[in-house]
Amino acid sequence: MIAVAPMPELTDLILEVGGHELQVCMQCGTCTAVCPWPRVKPFSPRQVIRYMAFGFEGFEQEDLWNCVTCRTCVQRCPRGIDLLEVMRAARAVMLESGSGPRTFSGPLASLRTEGNPWAGERQERYGFAAPRPVPPYDTDKDYLFFSCCTQSYDPRNRRVGTAMLDILNTAGVRYGCLGAAESCCGDQARRIGAQDVYDDVKQQNMTLFEEHGVRELIVASPHCLQTINQDYAKGTELHATHYATFFHRLVQDGHLILSKPIEAKVTYHDPCYLGRHAGEYEAPRELLRAIPGLQLLEMPRNRERSLCCGGGGGGIWLDVPSEERFSVLRVQEALRTGAEIIATACPYCTAMLEDAIKNLDVEHALRVLDIAELVAQSMTTEAGQ
Ligand code: SF4
Ligand code: SF4
Repeated sequence: MIAVAPMPELTDLILEVGGHELQVCMQCGTCTAVCPWPRVKPFSPRQVIRYMAFGFEGFEQEDLWNCVTCRTCVQRCPRGIDLLEVMRAARAVMLESGSGPRTFSGPLASLRTEGNPWAGERQERYGFAAPRPVPPYDTDKDYLFFSCCTQSYDPRNRRVGTAMLDILNTAGVRYGCLGAAESCCGDQARRIGAQDVYDDVKQQNMTLFEEHGVRELIVASPHCLQTINQDYAKGTELHATHYATFFHRLVQDGHLILSKPIEAKVTYHDPCYLGRHAGEYEAPRELLRAIPGLQLLEMPRNRERSLCCGGGGGGIWLDVPSEERFSVLRVQEALRTGAEIIATACPYCTAMLEDAIKNLDVEHALRVLDIAELVAQSMTTEAGQ
C-alpha cells in the first residue's frame, strides 16, 4: 500500500534524471487498462505516475519495480509518454538512495566484476561454443557475433548459442567473436536505473568495438538489439541485427536451406523487445513456416498484443510468486492452442517459459525451443544431409 506523504524533492530528482514526460500525463488510465499486471495483482501505472508527479512518498515501494518494460502502455498512451523512461528515472533515484529489491545486488555486483549478471567467469563467456572453434573478429569479417550473457551462462540457453553458431557456420557467414573481452550490453542495469553500471559496460563494449573497427553485429538477444541500436549506435555507424531476422535473410537468399522435416504443432511467443520494441513480428514466423512439416498455430494474444514473459526490466532478477508469473499464463495459453512446442526468440523468454513449464508440471505436453534450435534441426548441413 502506498503511503501519502508529500516529498516534492522526489519529483524534482526524477525530472532531473530524465523523467520529464511524467509532466504531460493526463491521468486517462489507458496504461493501467492495457498493462498485464492487473491480471495477476493490483497495479496501476497511472497511479504510480501520479504519485511521482506529486512527490508522494511511498511510490518507490514494490509497485515501482513491477514494470517489466513490455511497452504495451507506450503503444497506447494518447500523450505518447515513454513510461519506461519515467520508470527508469524514478528507479535511478531510488537505487541512488539505497532503496531497491535485495535480489538486484548479486547481478549488479557480478556485472561490475565479471561483465555479466549471472556470476559467470568472464573467461567462460564463449564456453558454450565448445568443441567448435570460436573465430576471432578481425577486419576481414563481415559481422561481429555478440553473445547475450544469458546464452553464455544459463545452461538451458547455452544450447541455443551453439545452435546459432552451427547455423552461421553452415551458411558460410564471415563472422567473428570478441570472446571474453565482451561485456553484457547492460540492458537490465539500465532499465532498473543502475546507470553507473550501464555506463561502465557500455564504455567497455564501445572501446572494444572501436579498437576492432566493428560496424555490423549479429546479436543473440532482442535486448542487446534494442540497447545497441537505440543507445550505443547514436552518432556512430554501429548497426545490430537480431539473429531471427538474419537467419530469415539467409533462407531468402538461398544460403540456408531448411529441408529436414519437423512434424510438430508449434506456437510462437513474440518477445517484447523483438516485437513491440523493434517491430519484428514476421521474420521468426517466416522461418517457422519454411520448416517442412511444421504447423504454426497462433495464440489469441500475438504480435502487438503478445503477453510479456515477465523477464524484462529486471523482472528476471526478481523473486515473483508463481501465481503472479506472466510466463505461467503464457504457457497455459500455448497449451490451449494444442501446440507441443512454444517457440521464441529471446533468452529471457526461453528461461522464463522453461521455468513455467516445470512449475506447471507440463513437460510431457509442451517444450520451449528457440527459433535457432528449430532452424538448426531443420537445416541442410554442408554434407547435404
Ligand atoms: S496512458 Fe499516458 S496519459 Fe494516460 S495515464 Fe497512462 S501515462 Fe498518463
Ligand atoms: S511497460 Fe508493460 S508492465 Fe510496464 S507499466 Fe507499461 S504495460 Fe505495465
